[in-house]
Amino acid sequence: MSRVYNFSAGPAVLPEEVLREAADEMMDYKGSGMSVMEMSHRSKVYDTIIKEAEADLRELMNIPDNYKVLFLQGGASQQFAMIPMNLMKNKKAAYIVTGQWAKKAWKEAQIYGDAVAVASSEDKTFSYIPDCSDLKIPEDADYVYICENNTIYGTKFKELPNTKGHTLVADVSSCFLSEPVDVTKYGVIYGGVQKNIGPAGVVIVIIREDLITEDTLPNTPTMLKYKTHADADSLYNTPPAYGIYVCGKVFKWLKKMGGLSAMKAHNEEKAKILYDFLDESNLFKGTVVKEDRSLMNVPFVTGSDELDAKFVAEAKADGFENLKGHRSVGGMRASIYNAMPKEGVEKLVAFMREFEKNNK
Ligand SMILES: *Cc1c(COP(=O)(O)O)cnc(C)c1O
Repeated sequence: MSRVYNFSAGPAVLPEEVLREAADEMMDYKGSGMSVMEMSHRSKVYDTIIKEAEADLRELMNIPDNYKVLFLQGGASQQFAMIPMNLMKNKKAAYIVTGQWAKKAWKEAQIYGDAVAVASSEDKTFSYIPDCSDLKIPEDADYVYICENNTIYGTKFKELPNTKGHTLVADVSSCFLSEPVDVTKYGVIYGGVQKNIGPAGVVIVIIREDLITEDTLPNTPTMLKYKTHADADSLYNTPPAYGIYVCGKVFKWLKKMGGLSAMKAHNEEKAKILYDFLDESNLFKGTVVKEDRSLMNVPFVTGSDELDAKFVAEAKADGFENLKGHRSVGGMRASIYNAMPKEGVEKLVAFMREFEKNNK
């Protein structure tokens, strides 16, 4: 068996320990005589799996009791619609447009009401986070929406926007569990798990209880109401059962690693190795404003499309996979999520140094 260093933005690298455990339990989960894949989601065994996953996530993120944790499907993209369908009581919301995912969410919300872009960084290809300390947020806006870590462009909100008392909704798909967060500052925190937590097919929504109501937009399908899933503890219908089981294993792994403060220190250390090199290199350059750099997604370029392509190809041949930038921006991007070991980043930088020497 040989594993590569996988820098994919998602689906992405998972802890080897978790993969091994899942493999060991594949044929017979803890004496049940079956795989978790084959198990009824209404069984006692599965109930323990999903309850433990939720309890571990609550412990990791210090989630207060007045927030529900929902394990849903449809990816992060389905939340682009579910959020306005459930929260747009006044049919008005404020969106901060810091990248393609935020823009998609903003466009989707326009189907349901007046979604106002109150700030944007599109003027400079989303290479920075706009000043959000004093935005013109409509009085009657139902919420303020952000994409906290911009997976494609590699920026991150280092400070949450001043919502002027409005509910904050955040897509944290690509920074989920990468550092501690104060859940009480948000109304809704959500993310697809395939970036930093588990296999594609699960989206986790952490939502304050007062935001879960019957009072959704007219014609909201049953499956798209938060209340449906909250009332049934994420078991209204068959949940993405195997995916939740793997997420649960990752939560246990994170606890063992020391929790989110330890993860943050680990992620800062890794990111620093790469950013320090980008800052000193004469060939490779980071593409975003320094203060807004993401710890998770690191885009960079050489300035030549030809050299970029050569780099990606040679890196791949050396066991560094998925370094090609998003199709919309080109260049390179190294996603260095929780499960990417420090050694992977060190080896990548050593490879980049060598490439630079050979391509003067
Ligand atoms: C990947 C990603 C999405 C889209 O996720 P899907 O699960 O494919 O719908 C949305 N937001 C962010 C920040 C992402 O990184």
